[in-house]
Amino acid sequence: MKLESYLSGTWQSGQGDGRTFVNPVTGEELGRVDASGLDAAAAMDYARDVGGPALRALGFAERAALLKAVAGVLAENRDRYGEIARLNSGNTAIDAAIDIDGAIATLKVYARLGASLGDARTIIEPGREQLAREPVFFARHVWNSRPGVSLHINAFNFPAWGLWEKAAVALLAGVPSLSKPATATAWLAVEMMRDVAAAQVVPEGALNLLCGDGAALTTALQPMDSLAFTGSAETAAALRAHPAVLERAPRLSIEADSINATILGPDVSPDSPLFDLAVREVVKALTVKAGQLCTNIRRILVPAAIVGAFQDAVVARLSTVTVGDPAAEGVRMGPLVNEAQREAACAGLAGLSTETRTLCGGGAPKEVAGADPQQGSFLAPTLLHCADPMAARLIHETEVFGPCATVMACQPAEAPALAARGGGSLAVSLFSNDASYAAETLQVLAPWHGRLLIVDEQVGRNHTGHAIVMPQCVHGGPGRAGGGEELGGLRGLRLHLQRSALQASEPLLTRIGDAAAVATL
Ligand code: NAP
Repeated sequence: MKLESYLSGTWQSGQGDGRTFVNPVTGEELGRVDASGLDAAAAMDYARDVGGPALRALGFAERAALLKAVAGVLAENRDRYGEIARLNSGNTAIDAAIDIDGAIATLKVYARLGASLGDARTIIEPGREQLAREPVFFARHVWNSRPGVSLHINAFNFPAWGLWEKAAVALLAGVPSLSKPATATAWLAVEMMRDVAAAQVVPEGALNLLCGDGAALTTALQPMDSLAFTGSAETAAALRAHPAVLERAPRLSIEADSINATILGPDVSPDSPLFDLAVREVVKALTVKAGQLCTNIRRILVPAAIVGAFQDAVVARLSTVTVGDPAAEGVRMGPLVNEAQREAACAGLAGLSTETRTLCGGGAPKEVAGADPQQGSFLAPTLLHCADPMAARLIHETEVFGPCATVMACQPAEAPALAARGGGSLAVSLFSNDASYAAETLQVLAPWHGRLLIVDEQVGRNHTGHAIVMPQCVHGGPGRAGGGEELGGLRGLRLHLQRSALQASEPLLTRIGDAAAVATL
């Protein structure tokens, strides 16, 4: 199988052999991905010139209806997508649901948000400023769709959600998108796009997909375009420094890696419900999607008095987790996405070994259900302990993109500063009933994190999880995490709309305001 790209309104195949993608359970090749010879610049023009005008002719509510229709197409084919996620990503049913159902849910949330904006095509901010001494000259701020294309470069770990969480917001904003899935898992993205294109539920040119090398796409960026990237800090750095980005200044939103932390508050004791809640969350971090979530817990900051009990409890739970082929009975955790990712994770673990000792895992699992551990890209859930987190450096800087986290003991007062040693992260969580500690800690933590989850006994199990990105909340983090911001309800539209100050007379502003949707982005 060779994956095709959906460009300029047709499915096209690259002319070279390209790169392979595999079944990570067996290492067997599933197909190839290649973009050589494809005209990426023409495809960007097509999206801009054909998809853009068609979308801008619609109001928000009409575009919201497109999202609802896309969600409907995807929901109809959900089971087939789950099978691809198992074969190509080594996903268990839960892993696949997070990706696929997460994509469908995000589309639906944006469909509802868009419907609330009505038929307007412009958003106007509430309130007005008087600019002259006489009350005849005022200012209001308006947001309008940028006449460009939104280029989406996605990471391998969420082929479904990564595609649609970006495309949904762009579509609602009236901006066409061209998505480039990661080669390792592009198959699912292609199948989804094929179904949506065949259903003809969005205007021609609104959704486009390129599989294979994406370098030519970045070169084709123009001033009204945007680039939303999710992936490693290394690729992000190369894209930031790309001449087209520097010279033409398209909008840039970067979601890179991060060394997220969870903190157990000073009031958590081994017999408290919060202790169990934190253990549960860490076990999830070390098993769900084999730990391949950018928002995952990588560092666990625990009061010194309970660190032994905490790590014992996590290790005990992990010992009951069956790793193997997701198709086999009782398997709760599959492999990493391919051998290159397992090698990268093992290299990261080797680096961390200079600052940590291994409490469990640390390499290939001894037993693998339904598969050959030598063939598949399996990595055992790995819990490390760092004895001196203040002096350590690598534990705060190394992202092992797999089922790995490091426990460290610290004084409660030290925890926020230690969490900030990640250099800017996507998410941090705190387990505590102590409202004063939470308030003080969060004031230090907030500038370093895009999202903060506080679990007290009132929340209990009724939270959405440390790692799960909710479309209602912003996703992205400062510093090392890339400095980008996605989603967050209507806030996500900001990447695709231009805000302009409108200076005019009261009657004119009223007339424009009457035709616009009033909202704060
Ligand atoms: P990656 O190697 O940086 O690749 C990400 C994407 O960039 C892929 O689609 C890749 O294409 C593409 N790419 C690579 N070089 C490029 C270039 N010069 N021009 C244009 N595109 C280029 O990252 P990954 O290994 O797929 O993903 C894992 C990393 O992503 C982890 O570090 C993880 O933390 C991070 N991540 C972050 C988030 C977030 O929301 N912050 C979410 C998920 C993952 P090919 O696959 O074809 O090479």
